[in-house]
Amino acid sequence: MAENKWVYSFGDGKAEGTAEMKNLLGGKGANLAEMSNIGLPVPPGFTITTEVCTAFYENDRQYPDGLTAQVEAALDAIGKSVGMNFGEKENPLLVSVRSGARASMPGMMDTVLNLGLNDETVEGLAKRSGDERFAYDSYRRFIQMYCDVVLGVEHYNFEEILEYYKEEQEYDLDTELTADDWKDVIARYKARVDEELGKPFPQDVTEQLWGAIDAVFGSWRNRRADTYRRLHNIPESWGTAVNVQAMVFGNMGDSSATGVAFTRNPATGEKAVYGEFLVNAQGEDVVAGIRTPQSLSKAARIAGGDKKPSMEEEMPDAYAELVDVFGKLEAHYREMQDVEFTVQEGKLWMLQTRSGKRTAKAALKIAVEMVGEGLIDERMAITRVEPGALDQLLHPTLDPEADREILTKGLPASPGAASGEVVFNSDEAAKLKQDGHDVILVRVETSPEDINGMHSAVGILTSRGGMTSHAAVVARGMGRPCVSGAGALRIDYQAETLTVAGETVKKGEIITIDGGTGEVMKGRVPTLQPELSGDFATLMEWADTHRRMKVRTNAETPTDAKTARKFGAEGIGLCRTEHMFFEANRITHVRQMILAKDEAGRREPLSKILPVQRDDFRQLFEIMHGLPVTIRLLDPPLHEFLPKTDEEIAEVAEDTGMPAADLRRRLMELAEANPMLGHRGCRLGITFPEIYEMQARAIFEGALEAGKATGEHVIPEIMVPLVAMKAELDFLKARIVAVAEEVSKEHGAEIEYHVGTMIELPRAALMAGEIAETAEFFSFGTNDLTQTTFGISRDDAATFINDYLQKNLIAQDPFVSLDRDGVGELVKIAAERGRATRDGIKLGICGEHGGDPSSIYFCEDVGLDYVSCSPYRVPIARLAAAQAALAKET
Ligand code: ADP
Ligand code: MG
Ligand code: MG
Repeated sequence: MAENKWVYSFGDGKAEGTAEMKNLLGGKGANLAEMSNIGLPVPPGFTITTEVCTAFYENDRQYPDGLTAQVEAALDAIGKSVGMNFGEKENPLLVSVRSGARASMPGMMDTVLNLGLNDETVEGLAKRSGDERFAYDSYRRFIQMYCDVVLGVEHYNFEEILEYYKEEQEYDLDTELTADDWKDVIARYKARVDEELGKPFPQDVTEQLWGAIDAVFGSWRNRRADTYRRLHNIPESWGTAVNVQAMVFGNMGDSSATGVAFTRNPATGEKAVYGEFLVNAQGEDVVAGIRTPQSLSKAARIAGGDKKPSMEEEMPDAYAELVDVFGKLEAHYREMQDVEFTVQEGKLWMLQTRSGKRTAKAALKIAVEMVGEGLIDERMAITRVEPGALDQLLHPTLDPEADREILTKGLPASPGAASGEVVFNSDEAAKLKQDGHDVILVRVETSPEDINGMHSAVGILTSRGGMTSHAAVVARGMGRPCVSGAGALRIDYQAETLTVAGETVKKGEIITIDGGTGEVMKGRVPTLQPELSGDFATLMEWADTHRRMKVRTNAETPTDAKTARKFGAEGIGLCRTEHMFFEANRITHVRQMILAKDEAGRREPLSKILPVQRDDFRQLFEIMHGLPVTIRLLDPPLHEFLPKTDEEIAEVAEDTGMPAADLRRRLMELAEANPMLGHRGCRLGITFPEIYEMQARAIFEGALEAGKATGEHVIPEIMVPLVAMKAELDFLKARIVAVAEEVSKEHGAEIEYHVGTMIELPRAALMAGEIAETAEFFSFGTNDLTQTTFGISRDDAATFINDYLQKNLIAQDPFVSLDRDGVGELVKIAAERGRATRDGIKLGICGEHGGDPSSIYFCEDVGLDYVSCSPYRVPIARLAAAQAALAKET
C-alpha cells in the first residue's frame, strides 16, 4: 500500500501542489505552490497538510506514521536547492515555520522565523554572510519568537531586556546595536529563559523544528483561534497546514528589505502599486510599527509627503521586478493580490499572495476596470462585488481618520453615520428640525407614533429592540442611520438624559451614531458624504442584464419612492398605508374614526381621510409611472394610533371633542394582551369593512387620476394582510370588488386591478392552494412569517437571540437572514400550492429579507418573481439577484 502523502514541496519553479489545493495545503501553502509553478521567485519549502492536523487531534496529539521521514526528506531537498544544511555549523540552513489555514485567519496563529540557529550555527551564519551583526540580530529575533510562540515565555520579557539595554547604552533605535551589543542582549535573553523555564533555550535544531510544528498545530485550538472561527463560521474540522520554508533575509544590510503590497489600491481601487517597505528589516517589522515604513512608488511617496526615498528610488531593480511580478500575479489570478515580499541583497523574493481585501468603492472600480483590461468578463465582475458591501456607498460614513470617543455599542440596525443633538421626544425632534437643528432621536423603543420624529431626525438610537424592531425596520426604510438595542444605555425621559458607563449626556448635547457598526460616540465625528461613481452604475447595468427576479421597493412616502426609483426599483412591493395615517393633518380624523361608537360615527371621519389617502396613492402611482404598485390595507392594531400619556390624552380629548373619561374607557377596551397576535391585519377589515372600503376607493380613484396625469395604464395591486383562511379573503375581496364597480360606474371608466394577500402566517402557507383560488398574487411577509413560525416576538427577540448566536444554536438571526429550513419550507410549500391552483401566480417577498443577499439567493431558488426591499437596499438586491441567477446557471 502506498504511504499517505503528508508533505508537499515547492520552490525552484515547480511545486507538488496548486492553488486549487487550498483545502489540503491551506491558503498560504497552496499559493506558495502556485507562485512557484508560474515561475515567481519563492524560497523553497514544503507544506505539511491539514490532514496531518486532523489526524493529530483525532489521535491524541500523535503524528501519523511516515510524517517524520517525509519532513526529513523535504528538508534535505530544501538544503540541496539552496546549498546549505539544517543544523550544519559552517553553512546552516535556516527556515521559517508558518501556519496557514484554508480560510485566512489573520494574526490568529503564529510564525517562527530564523529557526535552526543556535550558539554554533550563528557563528557559521556570521562567517558565511560576512556580517556578524546580521547573524546575531537574527538569532535574538529567533529566541524572542520561539520563546513566545513555542515555549510560552512572553514577549514583554525580551522587550524589557532590550529597552533596558538601549537605555544603558543610550541608543534610540534597534539599528544602532552592534554585533557585540546583540551578543550581550542574547546572553541576557538566555538567562531569562533559564529563569522562566528552569532549563536552557534548546540548542538542538531538530527539537526546535518539531517544537515549532507542534506549536502551529497546537495553536489551531487555542482560545484566540476558537473565537475567531466561531465569529467567521470556520469549522474546527478544517485544520491548519504548516509551511516550512527556507529563510531569506531582509535584514542583511541596506540592500535588503521587507515589505507588504497590494497590486492595486485597496481603498480606491486605482491601478497603482500600493504598500510599504522597510530597509534592513525582517518579517513583521513593517506592520509592528517599530520604525516608520517607506513608500513603494515614487508617486506614493510624493503624494504622502514622505521624506525617506521610495523603493522605486532606493532599489530600482528590485522594484522593477516587483512590478513585473504584480503583472504576472494579476494575469494569473485575475484578481487583485495582497502580497508579502523580501529583498535580500538586491534580490526579490515572494513570500505570500492572496486576494486582497478592499472597500466597496475599490471592489467596484477593480471589477469594472478588470473587464476593460480583458482580465475577467462581466459575469465574473458581477460575482466579485459583495452586495452587502455596497451599503458603504449608499450612506454617509464616519471619516476613518477622525478621533472618536465611544460611549457604548448597540446593534448596527440601519447603516450610515450621523451626528446631532440628543432629543428624547418625537414632537420635539420635529420642532427642532424645523428650526434647522440636526437631532438624534433617542428612545427606549419607537412605535408608529414616532414616525414623524424619526423622519425629522438625522439618526435614531434605542436601548431596546432587535434588528427588526420598529425602529430598525422604519429607519432602514427611510435610510436613516439607526443603532438599536443599546442595552447599556439608561434613558431617563423625565430628566431628559441618557447615562452609560458613568457618563451622562443631556438633551441638546451632541452624540454621533454609526449604524454600520452599532457604535455610539460622544460629540461630533466628521462624516463623508456618499457618492455614486460611474463604476457603480456600470456594474448595476451589468447586473440588470443577468438577473431574472425583479426588484421592487417598500415605500409609502413620495421621498422614499423617488429615492427607490433613483436606485433602480421596478415598482413598489409594499406600501404600508398605516404610515400615512400618522401625519399631522389626518391623525385627528383617524382617532375620531377609531373612537366612534358605531359605523355611522366611523364613516364621517373616514370621508375626511379619503381625499388625503387618494392623493397619497395618486402621487405614488405617478412617481412609479406605470410600474406595479402593491398597497397593503391597514395592518396594525388600532390602539397604536391612540394617545398614551395623560398629557397626550388631554390633548386628543381637546382635538376630538371627546371627554377624556370616555377616551380612557375606549383605550381600555382596545388594549390587548398580545397585540402582535390580536385585532390586526384583515381582522380589522372583517370588523370594520368601511375602513378597507375607504382605502380601496382611495386606491381606485388615485389610480384613475394618476392614469390621466401620466398617460400610463395604472393597475393597482391591493394586498390584504394577515390572512389565515380563504374565507377572510373572500369576505374582503367581495367588498373591494363592489367598491371597484361603484367607482367604475361613477367615473365611467374601466378599472383594472388585482387583489392578493400576504402570506405571513403558517396556516396561510399551508392553505395556499385554497387561498390562491381567491388571491391573484402572494407576497411573503417574512417578518411576521418568521415571528409566527418560530413563535418568537420580533420586538422582544433581541434579548435572547444573541445568546443563541453565541452558543452556536443558530448561525444567523432568522429575522435578518431567512431561515431556509423552517420558514423557507413554508415559503416553498405556499409557492408550490399557490402555483398548482393558479398557474403563474405572481410571487414576491416584502419582508426585511427581501434586501438580504443570502435570502435573495433563496428567493431565486424558489423562483419568486420579485423581491421588495427598503429604497437604500435596492442596489444591493439588484446585485444579489444577478449573482443568484448566475449561481443557478452554473
Ligand atoms: P502571517 O500569516 O501572520 O502573515 P507569515 O507566515 O506570513 O504570517 O509570516 C510572518 C512574517 O514573516 C511575514 O512578514 C512573512 O513575509 C515573513 N516570513 C515568513 N517566512 C519567511 C521566510 N522564509 N523568509 C523571510 N521572511 C519570512
Ligand atoms: Mg503573511
Ligand atoms: Mg405583517
